[in-house]
Parts: sequence; structure tokens; C-alpha cells
Amino acid sequence: MSTRLLILPGDGIGPEIVAEAIKVLEVLRDEFGLSVEMEQASIGGAGYEQDGHPLPQATLELAQRADAILLGAVGGPQFNELPRELRPERGLLSLRSELDLFANLRPAILYPQLADASTLRPEVVSGLDIMIVRELTGGIYFGKPRGIRLLDGGQRDGYNTMVYQEAEIERIARVAFEIAGKRQKRLCSVDKANVLEVSELWREVVDQVAVDYPDIELSHMYVDNAAMQLVRAPKQFDVVVTENLFGDVLSDAAAMLTGSIGMLPSASLNASGMGMYEPIHGSAPDIAGKGVANPLATILSVAMMLRYGLDRSDLATHVEEAVGQVLDQGLRTADIAADGSTPVGTEQMGQAVVDALRGRAS
Ligand code: NAD
Repeated sequence: MSTRLLILPGDGIGPEIVAEAIKVLEVLRDEFGLSVEMEQASIGGAGYEQDGHPLPQATLELAQRADAILLGAVGGPQFNELPRELRPERGLLSLRSELDLFANLRPAILYPQLADASTLRPEVVSGLDIMIVRELTGGIYFGKPRGIRLLDGGQRDGYNTMVYQEAEIERIARVAFEIAGKRQKRLCSVDKANVLEVSELWREVVDQVAVDYPDIELSHMYVDNAAMQLVRAPKQFDVVVTENLFGDVLSDAAAMLTGSIGMLPSASLNASGMGMYEPIHGSAPDIAGKGVANPLATILSVAMMLRYGLDRSDLATHVEEAVGQVLDQGLRTADIAADGSTPVGTEQMGQAVVDALRGRAS
């Protein structure tokens, strides 16, 4: 049966970078036999402009029927004055919660060709390949009670609740163990069990799940140490699993180790394995419409979709290696440009990946 793929270009550079990813998908369909049907719909500011809402009903219905979603990015300064519920970001957050996308996969990969882009020494980061699995729908961002209240003495206090049920911990742990099984079979669970009860439970449940995955080497690390280790010796990690807030912070830090925001894809999955795949960067309004945005994060999001959504690791590897080939040729968009490289625009970069991919089909 053919995969129903919903494509949501969004705002800013979204349509430009997604156009290049579509070309890659067309090659996979026409020359590698990937059975895929593509549909497009609006979201974010584009959804608001076309249909009066950042998550139009028609888009939501298509999303609920899709096997996978590829998203560009949403947002832009022209939407900043809209009421909060009509802002572009609201469309994306609603879609994530409507589809119950609880597992956020954030790889931090540094292609050896781009080792100079990192602020860390090349030998510390070259060839870095970490996968951070962040719980996305629970923890302190959603826990109740929450609020700001007036106390008797006239002072106010602000409070939030970090809460996880066992089932929530178990399902994210299973996702992480499964992913570790497809990689180097090492999983590090990050918590703050020396201080927080919620982390004590987290650790206990992760240990229970580990019994079902005897071939995965599990370790535990406190989040403060994990932050230090990420910048000291990041290559020690294979897969990291952690709760929402810790994952938010650690995954951004890990992304910055690579120094190239235009290169990093992400995935958000639900319990049935349905997923949304998107670059980690935003809509980059400062360069939108100029044809200079780096499309590689979006193209690599297609590779993640193939590996984690469609069980086509073979094709994912083709796409990733095609990207590596293009970097080997010295092609660089402005954001990853270095001395001696050939600066190219969005379309040229996309076309180079398409050509490299075609070369692998024959
Ligand atoms: P951003 O990621 O859009 O841009 C940060 C910087 O990185 C900019 O200088 C931009 O030009 C550059 N950049 C980003 N992607 C690039 C690419 N593919 N190629 C080359 N350069 C690239 O973050 P921002 O400027 O803070 O936010 C802009 C808008 O994007 C805001 O409206 C924000 O809310 C939204 N946003 C959306 C998402 C999303 O859709 N998932 C994520 C983050 C931010």
C-alpha cells in the first residue's frame, strides 16, 4: 500500500526548502520504487491567510489520515500582532497535540566535512552522531497545578508541576530502546533522581523496560552532568532519552555543537509510529524569498521519515550518503560556507542532492 504523505510547507523559507525535499521524494518514487502519494496543505501563517486559522480544519483532517507529515517551518514577524490563538506557532502546537506526538527525535550530527562550523575543536565533534529522544507531551510544560498566585503577605509566587505517569515514561523509554537497537545499541537516560521524586520514578520505569531489551547497554546520568559531558566529550553518547524540559535544553545545546542549524532534521512520533518530520530551524524570515536557505535539514528530515516512519533504512542511507557526497564536492549554502567552498543557493543545493541520488539509482 502506498504511503500517504502530507506536506505542509508553512511560512518564510518553508516553501523554498520543502520544494527541494519534494524533488528528492520524486526521485525516490520514480527511480527507487518508493510508493508514496503526496498531498499539500496550509499551516501556520499561510493557514491563517488562506483559511483564517493557523491549523485549518481541512489540514487537520488530512493530517489525521496521513501516514507521515513533512513540515517546512511556520512563523514570521507579520503575524506577531495576531491574538495568541491565531499565531502560526499555535497551528503547529495544536497539530502536535491533536496527533499525540509524544516522542521527539532530535539527532545532532556533524558531518566531518563541516567540523570547522562548530565552536568546539574539530577532534571533539567531528563525526558526532547523537540522537536525543525527548518526551514532548508531558512533564512540567503541561503538569498541573500551575499558575501565579497572590500570597497572604502580598507577595506572589509562580509554580509549575513536573509530573509523569508510569505509562508515559514507559512509552518514551520503549521508543528510545527501539531506536538504540537501530544504532550503536547504547542508551543513556538523563534525569535528576538525586533531587526529584519524578526522576526517581523515571529511573525505576526505564530500568523495568530495559529488561525487554537485553542487547541495549543502558546507563543513567544526572542532567547537570549530561550538560557538562555534552560539551566536554559529546561523542560518548549514542541515544539519550529524557523528559520534556531537560530534553528541550539538552537538544538545543547538542544542536549547537554542530554549528549548523540548516543541517539538522527532527521527528515527532505517536504511539502508532505516525510521525511529523521537520527541520529544527524556524522560518528564517531574514532570508525568506532570497533563494539562499539551506534545504539539507529538510531533505534529511525525509531521510528520518524513511528510517523511522516507513521502515526504509535502505533509502534513508541513500539520501544521507547523497548529502555527504554533495558536501564532499565542496558545495555549501551561505550558512555553512567556509573558505574554498563553492557557494550555492537553495535550488542548486537541492538539485545537487537529486543528481547524487540519481547516480546511486543506476
Ligand atoms: P530561525 O531558525 O528561523 O532562524 C535563526 C537564524 O538561522 C536566522 O539567521 C536564519 O536566517 C538562520 N537559518 C535558519 N534556518 C536556516 C536555513 N535552512 N538555511 C540558512 N539559514 C538558516 O529562528 P528565529 O529567527 O528565531 O525565528 C524565526 C521564525 O521562525 C519565528 O516566527 C519563530 O517563531 C519561528 N520558528 C518556527 C519553528 C518551527 O516552525 N518549527 C521553529 C523555530 C522558530
